[in-house]
Order: sequence, then structure tokens, then C-alpha cells
Amino acid sequence: MPLGVKIKIVFVVIFALLLIAGSFKMHFVLGLMVAMVLLIYAEMRNQNWNFFGPAISNVKDRALNAVAITFDDGPSEWTRDILLTLKNENIKATFFILGANIDRHPEIARQIVNEGHTIGCHGYSHTKYHLKGLKFIREDLDQAFDAFSRAGLPAPSLIRFPHGVKNIFAVKEAMRRNLKICSWGLGVWDSKMPGEDVIAERAKALKPGEILLLHDGKGADLQPDRSQTAAALPKIIRDYKNRGYGFVTLS
Ligand SMILES: [Zn+2]
Repeated sequence: MPLGVKIKIVFVVIFALLLIAGSFKMHFVLGLMVAMVLLIYAEMRNQNWNFFGPAISNVKDRALNAVAITFDDGPSEWTRDILLTLKNENIKATFFILGANIDRHPEIARQIVNEGHTIGCHGYSHTKYHLKGLKFIREDLDQAFDAFSRAGLPAPSLIRFPHGVKNIFAVKEAMRRNLKICSWGLGVWDSKMPGEDVIAERAKALKPGEILLLHDGKGADLQPDRSQTAAALPKIIRDYKNRGYGFVTLS
């Protein structure tokens, strides 16, 4: 169902409920409306709920036992270590790169592409979109696209929203730019730096067809420390290879 139709249905239902509530002063109708607002909020906050628009949330249809390793927030100095591991293991991954960090490390961004990996957009400033209007989201994505072109990168066809949160404006704007929205299946909270062994252990929960989320940057931070993620990556890949997983990108 097209996004515009879904939005219209939601508004018509809310309007009808308001009319009923106004006419009959029925508390359960108000309760229903509150539930609906909560549902919409849950949709905004949950990266795997995609009522607003279609999203890539797994790679089950790609190949038997396929998994996808993805990185957010780069490029950073740590991206080089990660690229070296991926090269040694002969694996392609997907990097959702941040406009602000492309401007800082354009050569690393180009290296990602030159080594055959897939890149996607992660916004420019890493600001959460779910409480932002169309104007802000459009400007942030304009800046991100400008950063892609300044660095000589191909225009992105994928997007993962910062923190995975969204609203109808973000989805609408992504669709207008022909960006496929991507979520993930397993996050291992490497962003919180729990130690490389904990990261590798948590990553074992990835099932065939799922998308793993790791971080090679930390939002728009100037000097992120992703030493643990870089150190955990060879262990993670070894475990997946032992289990016979194949590796695909989200392109
Ligand atoms: Zn991020």
C-alpha cells in the first residue's frame, strides 16, 4: 500500500474516533486514541516496524545461510583496521556513513567503495529524525548528499536513519530520493564498549538471514574509540564462517 494512502487512513481513523468521542463522550474511544498515538510512537522508535514505508530488515531471500555485517557512523580512523580484516577474510560489508565524517575522512570513504563494499547514507549530523520536521530532515540529507559528492562517492541508494528512529517525514523524504530504508536484526551494543570478547559473544546470537549492526564511528564524535569493535570483528567472522554463514551486502 502506498505511504500516502496509509497516512490518509490513519488520519481518517483518528478523525472518525475524535468525532465519536466528541459526540458520545466515550472514554474507551479516548483510550483507543491514546493507544493509537502510542502505536505510532512505537513505530517511530522501532527500527523494525515499517508501517510508514517498506524497509530492508533481513537478508533471508538472498541466499541460504546468508548474513550481512553492517557498520554505522564512520568513516573514522578505525575503519581502516576493519577494512583490513574484511579484506583478509575476503568479505564484503555495508557501511552507513555519516556526512560529517565523510568530510573529515573522504579518502577512507573512497577506500570503502574501492574495496568493493556497499555504502549507504546515515544522515549528516547524526541527529535523530523522529521528532524533526520535513525541513530539518531535508536539509540534513541535502548536506549528507553534498558530502557524498564532495568526496567523489556514488550517490547512495540505501539509508539507515540515525539511531534507527524515524517519522513519516523521514520515510517520505527517503522515498523521494529513492533511498531504500535499512534496519537491522541484531545490535550488540559495541557502541557502549563492553569489551571485545563480550561483543564477539553477543554477535553469536545472529541467525541466518539476519543483519548485524556494528559501529566504526560514534555519531559525529571527532575521535571515536572503536578499538573493541575492530578487535572483535575477526572473532565474529571466524564464528560465522565456522557455522557456514555466507556474507552479503544490503545492495
Ligand atoms: Zn548511528
